[in-house]
Amino acid sequence: MKRFLTAFIALVTLAWGWDLLSASGAAGTLNPWAVRQHALTLTGLWSFSLMSLAMVLATRPAWLERPFGGMDRIYRVHKWAGILAISLGGLHWLVEMSDDIIKAVYGRAGRLPKDGGAFLEAMRDAAESLGEFAIYALLAMLVLTLWKRFPFKLWRYLHKVMPVLYLALAFHAAFLAPLGYWSQPVGALMALLIAAGSVASVHALAGWIGRSRRAEGVVEAVNEPAPGVTEVVCRLNEAWRGHRAGQFAFVTFERFEGAHPFTIASADRGDRRITFQIKALGDYTHGLAQKLVPGQPVRVEGPYGCFELPSGKRRREQVWIAGGIGVTPFLAWLEALQAAPDKAPEVDFYYSVRRRDADPFVARLEALCATLPSVRLHVLSSEHNEKLSAETLRERGRHGRRAEIWFCGPQGLADKLRDGLRRLGMGGVRFHQEAFEMR
Ligand SMILES: Cc1cc2nc3c(=O)[nH]c(=O)nc-3n(C[C@H](O)[C@H](O)[C@H](O)COP(=O)(O)OP(=O)(O)OC[C@H]3O[C@@H](n4cnc5c(N)ncnc54)[C@H](O)[C@@H]3O)c2cc1C
Repeated sequence: MKRFLTAFIALVTLAWGWDLLSASGAAGTLNPWAVRQHALTLTGLWSFSLMSLAMVLATRPAWLERPFGGMDRIYRVHKWAGILAISLGGLHWLVEMSDDIIKAVYGRAGRLPKDGGAFLEAMRDAAESLGEFAIYALLAMLVLTLWKRFPFKLWRYLHKVMPVLYLALAFHAAFLAPLGYWSQPVGALMALLIAAGSVASVHALAGWIGRSRRAEGVVEAVNEPAPGVTEVVCRLNEAWRGHRAGQFAFVTFERFEGAHPFTIASADRGDRRITFQIKALGDYTHGLAQKLVPGQPVRVEGPYGCFELPSGKRRREQVWIAGGIGVTPFLAWLEALQAAPDKAPEVDFYYSVRRRDADPFVARLEALCATLPSVRLHVLSSEHNEKLSAETLRERGRHGRRAEIWFCGPQGLADKLRDGLRRLGMGGVRFHQEAFEMR
């Protein structure tokens, strides 16, 4: 993610630098007004480009899943592009506000003349006001995004205003960009970003995001295999195109509640029946088994995600790690392997639970692994102080550095394992992670 965002910002900076060196001739004039002008265009360009990127990624572009490594990663890039865009937008606003200070210290000498006629001037005034309003709203949104205690549901509704704010920013950028830009590569880049971001905004406002991947269906069965865990079986209509084991979908049981992402915890049996295992992790999922009834309609959008069963041909040692409800993609993998046990790779599968006896999935995992001799299941119960660490992985591992880890579980455990592996000189181990968090 860091590499992608760095490359993106570098590309935008290059386009800006090209204009600076080749067209304006202002690069040589380095009075405070010129420096302010360059800082204003650069911070504005960075902020707007990143905001356009965030807007495009918000449309859940499934065609970008492979290059990005899954929709959860796309959402992470979307989130950080948005955070950076707003922070740089704040900086842009501060630079804009610096004119009074420059005037007071250096006077008006060297101030760059305005280009364009009266119409352009009027549009620029409107664009400036819109930009100022948008940055205040965006800074407020940034605070709410970073303040994790702010209720997700409310945040999600407020977040729906983003396409409107983006369109305001596109207007701001289009009218306030220097006129010389439009005959330079930086202008072509801006035009592309404005077009892509505006189309994405209209898509979002019209409710078209994920439209081609939506299927309707009914809830067939609802069970509560353990307190706080709801198992839901859904049967979908012909619009459902099937899924690969390990993928997830956005599920709407109630229109006003909206969609929640859940991993499809079953393999594709070709009958358009899918199962979700849902843990009570918040307001809506708490007591879900009591809210759902068989026969009620359900809408499923997907499938998404690239957390897929690694092929048996891989030479690397496989280590699968599930923590708590993070077991769901592995349930789907193991179910999918039942059809071809000889294709199962050599795997050490660690499943970390609080209490082995009370866990709703241990018996199912044991039954699934019993037919797969190459999959060695290790259940670690924190009640008995059995904790998974990088040291355990090294001691039990067969090929050490050449291992490949597939992880789905609490972020704290993932961080601890990554740090531990690095400390043990096993930083080369490939670590694939499915994140259950998008905000
Ligand atoms: C790719 C993915 C796969 C997941 N698979 C499973 C699974 O198989 N089983 C399971 O129990 N849980 C799964 N989750 C987590 C599940 O989506 C949340 O626990 C659930 O949405 C919480 O809703 P809530 O209203 O009860 O909680 P809230 O208190 O409203 O939210 C708790 C947290 O859940 C997340 N969340 C809530 N609503 C949404 C939403 N509409 N879109 C995105 N994130 C949201 C946010 O990070 C939020 O901070 C998955 C999440 C992701 C991203």
